[in-house]
Amino acid sequence: MEVDILIKNAYIVTMNSESSIYEFGTLAILGNTIVAIGKSEDIEYFTSSNEIDAMGSLVMPGLINAHTHAAMSIYKGMADDLNLHEWLHKYIFPAEAKFCNADTVSTGSQLAIMEMIRFGTTCFADMYYFQEKTAEICFLLGMRAVLGQAILDFPAPDFKSSNDALLHTEMLMQKYNNSQLVTIVPGPHSPYTCNKETLIQSRQLANKYNVPLHIHISETMLEYEESIKNNEKTPIEYCDDLDLFNGKTIAAHCVYINDNDRSILKNKKVGVVNNAISNMKLCSGVAPVYFMKEAGVTVGIGTDGVVSNNTLDIFEEMKTVAMVHKLNTNDPTALNAKTVVEMATIENAKILGLDSQIGSLEVGKKADLILINLNQPHLIPLYNIYSHIVYAIKGGDVDTVIINGEIVMLNKTVQYSEALDVAIDAQLIANEVKEYMETVNAS
Ligand SMILES: [Zn+2]
Repeated sequence: MEVDILIKNAYIVTMNSESSIYEFGTLAILGNTIVAIGKSEDIEYFTSSNEIDAMGSLVMPGLINAHTHAAMSIYKGMADDLNLHEWLHKYIFPAEAKFCNADTVSTGSQLAIMEMIRFGTTCFADMYYFQEKTAEICFLLGMRAVLGQAILDFPAPDFKSSNDALLHTEMLMQKYNNSQLVTIVPGPHSPYTCNKETLIQSRQLANKYNVPLHIHISETMLEYEESIKNNEKTPIEYCDDLDLFNGKTIAAHCVYINDNDRSILKNKKVGVVNNAISNMKLCSGVAPVYFMKEAGVTVGIGTDGVVSNNTLDIFEEMKTVAMVHKLNTNDPTALNAKTVVEMATIENAKILGLDSQIGSLEVGKKADLILINLNQPHLIPLYNIYSHIVYAIKGGDVDTVIINGEIVMLNKTVQYSEALDVAIDAQLIANEVKEYMETVNAS
């Protein structure tokens, strides 16, 4: 039988429910779907004009970034080493107010998506403005994404009111949600930037189209304390009382939670996304990831926006997640390597509501996968592949990336990228941003 892509002799890590590994494995792709996977000796009946001899290479599910703000790549390195309040109010908000528009979102999204592909990410969950621009770049570069259109109660760069944002979100959902790669979802920014009505309408819109809602919750101690002061409830209790978790939820952060919050997150099947590097860089705190997982909460991994990270490298994030939660629990057995790989693949897929399609390499699932040459000094010898994935492999080690059955990066070259003048555009915008920020902060 002829297939579109045939990968042979690979070290295949499937991340399926049996944790199957094939040391000399074959994987066959027809269209956008995996049609066979197993030991090479058992799968000899396929041929392809596009055959990849992956001897010495790891093949694993593409990584998923479950919370980011892709277009913010345009501000990478603009403001570091500041406290959250100063960072947001003196830099991020003024820069976005002046420079966030359809063109800069397009440029920032190109940079972010090229970087994510370069580092082995094959799907991301976003929250930002002008999501139709990010969607266009996903189609151009072949990236899969769940794009949360930001909804706020105060005037945002794209919409003056939450009502306008909600109407536009529904229009985008109707336009894109039957596509192969892009799902648009409501992205109410947080319980403290959206009023009750906006939160409830966002949930109703998500449920009408059976997609997740993407929100930040309980990121900082200040948010937690203000919620208790103003509502006599934690941010999670407040959202639960509004029935906000009555459907799929991508909940970024959840750094400050009590025992009751943990029960709510478990019982309402809220998908929590840990952003360990961002939380450390802004000194927001350390989320109790180990204890949430022990309690049965689904917890995944995201980078958050590049401005608080400053890369979109899920390999770097996996290593950090493993390290920080060991240190935080004073227990080196907490979050072992395999658990962390699950968080960045199949658990993230569950959080995005896409686990029937992606997150593991199985017959019938979409062909979203990456290849990495294991024949390099830092990856020799091999005792435990999960150990290498979390502790030794770097994003830059990724050689080839396949998304939805299409080769989007081959031997470290992102396809289609030559056609984009993104580097020049990005630096021209950055020069203007720098000049503007100097005048703003001098006055
Ligand atoms: Zn965020």
